[in-house]
Amino acid sequence: MRYYTHIAFALFIYILIMFIQGMTISPLGVFFAGWISVLPDIIERFIGEHRTLGHSIFWTAPLGLVALFNLEIGIALVVGFLSHILLDCCNTHASPLLYPLHKDGFGCFNKSRRIRTGTIAEKGVLIFIISLLITVLLFMTPLYHIIGFDQMLGDVFARNNTPPETTHHLKCDVNLNLRADDAKNKNITVDIINETRYQVLITDMEVEG
Ligand SMILES: [Zn+2]
Repeated sequence: MRYYTHIAFALFIYILIMFIQGMTISPLGVFFAGWISVLPDIIERFIGEHRTLGHSIFWTAPLGLVALFNLEIGIALVVGFLSHILLDCCNTHASPLLYPLHKDGFGCFNKSRRIRTGTIAEKGVLIFIISLLITVLLFMTPLYHIIGFDQMLGDVFARNNTPPETTHHLKCDVNLNLRADDAKNKNITVDIINETRYQVLITDMEVEG
């Protein structure tokens, strides 16, 4: 695959994971995810062999150790690297995941169905990945609420498992100024109409007996 396809795929996977986990996406994390996604091919360009050492899954361990010092960059490195070898598994040359223990490439699907580098098929994959990336970015902006996707999709893309009641308590900054001079013993009920509108009902308490 071309470098731009790898970068787009790495950014999509990285941003998606960070978004789902509710973690902060910083420019530094985006940079490392994009940069590491082209490193396997750069390494092999230097050593003069393609689909060998740079595409070994064993790189995941040292890259993962970075997470002990900086979680965000560690995740970016691991995700960016794995995205590269995963995408190359869909390429005609496949990825030698277990190199040097096993030098044959691992590929998805039948070889004839895999994507050849630089072809129209790769450009189609690139457009598809960019479409997914734009969709995720859309969900991270206020435009998501304006369009109404949140209501259409419910809590499918909820960023955490916080119960709805608690979420409303956290989101809303409500000032209530109530006067009910004309009588005592009122019932006050607050109904949530939707995410931004509330209805306050004041009714007389029923007298028992
Ligand atoms: Zn590669």
